[in-house]
Amino acid sequence: MSAPTPRPGILEIAPYQGGKSSANSTQRVIKLSSNEGALGPSPKAMEALRNTANRLHRYPDGGCDLLRKKLAEKYDLEMDQLVCGAGSDELLTLLIRAYAGPGDEVLYSQHGFLMYPITAKGVGAVPVAAAETNMTTSVDSLLAAVTEKTKIVFVANPNNPTGTYITDAEMKRLRDGLREDIVLVVDAAYAEFMTGQEDYSAGEELVRSGNNTVMTRTFSKIYGLGGIRLGWCYAPVEIADVLQRLRNPFNVSLPTQEAGVAALDDDDFVNDCVRHNAETLAWFRDEINAISGLTAHPSYGNFVMIEFPTEDGKNTDAANDFMMARGVIPRKIGAYGLPQMLRVSIGTKEEMDICLQTIKDFVNA
Ligand SMILES: *Cc1c(COP(=O)(O)O)cnc(C)c1O
Repeated sequence: MSAPTPRPGILEIAPYQGGKSSANSTQRVIKLSSNEGALGPSPKAMEALRNTANRLHRYPDGGCDLLRKKLAEKYDLEMDQLVCGAGSDELLTLLIRAYAGPGDEVLYSQHGFLMYPITAKGVGAVPVAAAETNMTTSVDSLLAAVTEKTKIVFVANPNNPTGTYITDAEMKRLRDGLREDIVLVVDAAYAEFMTGQEDYSAGEELVRSGNNTVMTRTFSKIYGLGGIRLGWCYAPVEIADVLQRLRNPFNVSLPTQEAGVAALDDDDFVNDCVRHNAETLAWFRDEINAISGLTAHPSYGNFVMIEFPTEDGKNTDAANDFMMARGVIPRKIGAYGLPQMLRVSIGTKEEMDICLQTIKDFVNA
């Protein structure tokens, strides 16, 4: 007896592997594998969540009206151009389902976020990766890879796992070089960590100035709310309307909506997170770069890629095993075409002290 056959493309998907959470259950675990909030969840969000317990029998507001209103005020955007989702992952999936189908091409950058090829295959579309320069999205190679089958282009800015970004001017050059029937998705999951880069923008202006650009954002990283799944996007009215039709009726849970509304008022927490990340990332990179044979690449997110030597016993596999045995959990990123790197999220200072010491012990072992 054979099982029913899924649609073409589905069995070509290598399931997304989340960051590991435990190496050895008996010891303290320092999870640095998923770019989660170093300082825990937003305290205001936690309090709002607790206050939802006696209303869990109610369906949520399917339109996320209060949350969208709050987002519109905070970021000075138009409410009817905002769509909320169960994580920005859901919005990426909806965009692909709406605009790409069997045989179409979905374009992304060589070391871009893995959800792009995964969701493309899910609808039978063909993921096409454009080469990068210096581990940075290359507008020229993206534009050169466009064909008449291209339907969507995804750019994470800054990108995960490389940590690099392209300037607002480059993103605009990309958009201006695309046909108007191609959707450009600017995935700004780490936008809040970008401080002081005058040439960067999360993409609001590009959305406003055209009909084909969408900016996606998430509460998972800066607000430390990955566990309750909340993301949003800002899109031209026509695209927002398409996503509203396609989404599930109650795609964002009631506790999640209320926690999201509260988190948007938690400016002190956001400022603490941004400051903590900037200081700890700079310090940690310097310390790693002082270790002979290792390179900590520049990063504008809340994570950093560490490049290891390629020889047996000193490479990423050996480093990963050594760290895991000590309860420090990095992320292997071979699936992103970067087998010589481990990605490490920026945790608390204490966690990063232990991580650093573990890496030093590995190198000296
Ligand atoms: C973490 C991440 C996301 C998605 O996060 P959600 O938890 O689904 O909101 C999207 N894009 C990039 C580049 C990310 O790193």
